Amino acid sequence: MKAQPEASHFVDGRYLEDAAGAEIEVIFPATGEVIARLHEATPAVIEAALASAARAQAEWGRMRPVERSRILRRAADMIRDRNEALSLLETLDTGKPLQETTVADWPSGADALEFFAGLAPSVTGETIPLGQDFVYTLREPLGVCVGIGAWNYPSQIACWKAAPALALGNAMVFKPSEVTPLGALKLAEILIEAGLPAGLFNVVQGRGAVGGALVTDPRVAKVSLTGSVPTGRKVYAAAAEGVRHVTMELGGKSPLVIFDDADLESAVGAAMLGNFYSAGQVCSNGTRVFVQRGLKDRFLKRLAERSEAIRMGDPLDPETQMGPLVSQAQLDKVLGYIGKAKAEGARLVCGGEASVSPGCYVQPTVFADVTDGMTLACEEVFGPVMAVLDFDTEEEVIARANGTDFGLAAGVFTADLARGHRVVAQLQAGTCWINAYNLTPVESPFGGSKMSGVGRENGKAAIEHYTQVKSVYVGMGPVDAPY
Ligand code: NDP
Repeated sequence: MKAQPEASHFVDGRYLEDAAGAEIEVIFPATGEVIARLHEATPAVIEAALASAARAQAEWGRMRPVERSRILRRAADMIRDRNEALSLLETLDTGKPLQETTVADWPSGADALEFFAGLAPSVTGETIPLGQDFVYTLREPLGVCVGIGAWNYPSQIACWKAAPALALGNAMVFKPSEVTPLGALKLAEILIEAGLPAGLFNVVQGRGAVGGALVTDPRVAKVSLTGSVPTGRKVYAAAAEGVRHVTMELGGKSPLVIFDDADLESAVGAAMLGNFYSAGQVCSNGTRVFVQRGLKDRFLKRLAERSEAIRMGDPLDPETQMGPLVSQAQLDKVLGYIGKAKAEGARLVCGGEASVSPGCYVQPTVFADVTDGMTLACEEVFGPVMAVLDFDTEEEVIARANGTDFGLAAGVFTADLARGHRVVAQLQAGTCWINAYNLTPVESPFGGSKMSGVGRENGKAAIEHYTQVKSVYVGMGPVDAPY
């Protein structure tokens, strides 16, 4: 199986190669097969990308929003028309099953393009009366934005960043994770075909150092990163040197709180979705599942039955429900956390082994009797490993749910809606669900609090993060100077 793109980078409207860059091997994690060989961006490629973005943005920012929108809406339609081929590529790049990529990855990217295309023409300033004088405000693009992506939802992340940036008049230079570099190139191709002027969306490949070079370039006005907290800290600090705008979408250790009165099947289903979808490689996963003691035994029994029935295997088989992890490194990390959980006294309910060799597979795994101090309850695993913790009272669970530096997401399951609202009001998280989990429609702002990030993607909230306000004071009479 080969998925070799025309070249490694997409700059100024076309594919660009520079074989002087260090090699990147792209691996299909279900088999370990090398499906493409790319090169990291050299300084010359980075320079070409930034220069073309700066040049193209000047004109794009002045274009009528409705004209920009038309191009992005066309791109959304093209993605939907080509969903099958794009999803296949996403599966090869990430190892996620076709059953997921065909409904969750590119389709969500198309939604973002459509949503921001629709929103952009209605983004306006305000008029502020001041007696005879007045102020009006303009919402201006920021300029050149840098997007840096994680490997878990590579094409969705590229679209979620490109769509608001472009719709609101900015240009973007995007660096995918070196683990999953293929999808963003397709987005660049599609945008050009949809009519986007050259230079407005460039893709450069590379590891952290390439991201670092982009973030510190004086032409860059904003940096949007999706990644881990340690990387977020570094990128945030580097961006701060140039007082740049930032959006940081970082990791989590999110609580999912299940009260005794919750609908059992829905709660079990949500806990599974929130731990096993994409083989657990989802930032907002509810990886600390707090179950009220009265429901615990029934919950664990049903959870084990349903988890053991998950069909794991070849991600290209449409019947497969769970594929491999993205890489051998991730598999080693996840198995390390499973070993630690056992050593620290958590009780293994199901799973716990690497499986379906070759390939980077690990079974859907559930640990019960997890306590707050265990490593499994504190650190982001980014694999299909669920920690179930017991609790007795509402007050207790809120305090324990908040007892983490992360604050990305949280969920509550209860038949008592008043309690649901009361609890989420006290949970420290940027995105919460009541009787649902991990649904992230583009209409809804998404992002973290505490160490899980700053800024929001999606929804109207994203307007704040891809525009800046200019205030214009208009004097209507003579200037009244005291000297
Ligand atoms: P990393 O933090 O390792 O990497 C994120 C991106 O940053 C990659 O493209 C990486 O490049 C790049 N990078 C690394 N170092 C630097 C640097 N010094 N300067 C600039 N760029 C740099 O995350 P992963 O790719 O491992 O993704 C998993 C993490 O992402 C998890 O913590 C997860 O929770 C988080 N995430 C958050 C989401 C959210 O919306 N909140 C959504 C999805 C994931 P390279 O990989 O090539 O080294």
